[in-house]
Amino acid sequence: MRLDKFLADLGYGTRSEVKNFIKKGNITVNGTKINKPEFKIDENKDEIMYNNQIIEYKKYQYFLLNKPSGCVTATNDNVHKTVMDYLEAETKKYKNLSPVGRLDKDTEGLLLITNDGLLSHDLLSPSHHVAKKYYVELDGQVDESLIEEFKRGVDIGDDKLTKPAELEILKPNNTAYLTIIEGRFHQVKRMFAAKNLKVTYLKRVEMSILNLEGLEKGEYRALTNAEIEVLH
Ligand code: URA
Repeated sequence: MRLDKFLADLGYGTRSEVKNFIKKGNITVNGTKINKPEFKIDENKDEIMYNNQIIEYKKYQYFLLNKPSGCVTATNDNVHKTVMDYLEAETKKYKNLSPVGRLDKDTEGLLLITNDGLLSHDLLSPSHHVAKKYYVELDGQVDESLIEEFKRGVDIGDDKLTKPAELEILKPNNTAYLTIIEGRFHQVKRMFAAKNLKVTYLKRVEMSILNLEGLEKGEYRALTNAEIEVLH
């Protein structure tokens, strides 16, 4: 890969910006100063340094957003604010970032955003059974009997019952955690609607090993290398 492309892909600037700072002699490859933007590197083997700091090669980027309600899960929208508006600094640097799955406009919480299409596909694939935990508020009391019914599967009008879901009723008992391993359209709302309960507030609090710790509404962070490895 060309040195200027490597740096531009990693968000160090536009192609012409990185060309300029390569020419200024700020980059070393395996200890040798390189000032040719077209210099060919092996991004997996060579040690590339910028102002004496090693540049870690990352092919893809992964971010965790605490989505506020009122924005749509889309990469662009003519009317509404989108989740991508919260990551403007990143979308300027990196191409093809998009949300993994979708939260409704009025749903809050954990949303993964990446340009790793393969991971995105795997996490959404029904066969992968990635656990997603939601905090739910309802317009009525949740009966204990729903724990067993949700475990068995619910008819929400699709051709198949929902896969086993774990319901934990909280106090007061119009609140609960529901963990599902699928991602059907409006699934949580439809599961409760099938039991004559309306969801009045919905927030995704966990997905796989990820949670929202330390992230206020509208804030995001990059995933750690350890988190990325577990998700793969
Ligand atoms: N289930 C829903 O009903 N809505 C969401 O946004 C996510 C899961």
